[in-house]
Amino acid sequence: MPATKFVALAHTRSNYTYSVFHQSLLLLHENNSEDYALKHLYSLENTKVLLDKWGWTSEQIKVGIDNATIDVYEKVVWLHIPSYIIKKGDRLKIRGISRFISKADYVQVLIDRAWSKADPYKLQPANSWDEFVVMGNAGDFYEVNLTQHEVTCTCHAYRGLRFAFEQDAIATRYLISNPITQGQLPDKHVFAIWKYLGVENLQQYEYQFMERRDRFLEKATLWEWEALERNEEMAIW
Ligand SMILES: [Zn+2]
Repeated sequence: MPATKFVALAHTRSNYTYSVFHQSLLLLHENNSEDYALKHLYSLENTKVLLDKWGWTSEQIKVGIDNATIDVYEKVVWLHIPSYIIKKGDRLKIRGISRFISKADYVQVLIDRAWSKADPYKLQPANSWDEFVVMGNAGDFYEVNLTQHEVTCTCHAYRGLRFAFEQDAIATRYLISNPITQGQLPDKHVFAIWKYLGVENLQQYEYQFMERRDRFLEKATLWEWEALERNEEMAIW
């Protein structure tokens, strides 16, 4: 199945000249049609959450978001919503905005949204103590892997996030300096693991990971000893 080209009017307005960085994000993956940073980080959905945080009503957001222009610079994001629109020939006043937004705000929204969607009850233990399986909305299965410094996932969102941050060094810097993630990609399945382990940031995760590993290794060693003893007993008989 060919990948569908990512289209969000906010990122592709023909009557606006986007920054060089923004254009590079659009052009970078022209061939395989994957504009990861624009799609996963600077999305309309994430922008809506920001407007809501700034006290916009849902009606203002609904009208405004269709008329938004989002221009991603190397270090900041420019958001523009005009203060009026033309509807059926009439000039209609709407709530507008024209300002630069820190990429840290977008990264935080991403983290908050993933956290709120994370459901530890969807996790199923897999073959090993450091593996889980999670069922996606379409009934497909993803593997979630625990390592000492991060949790990885085989889902599309995780993969998209990885590429998105690879495209944007400043966003990556904010992801690393964020006290919660400290560089961990904020995928909802990753956070499901965090919730399952009862942790709220990467530091706590690393501690719980080691505890969990030690517990399972101890158990495994004990089991091996018992098996060895059983064999020895059998040998004596
Ligand atoms: Zn995932």
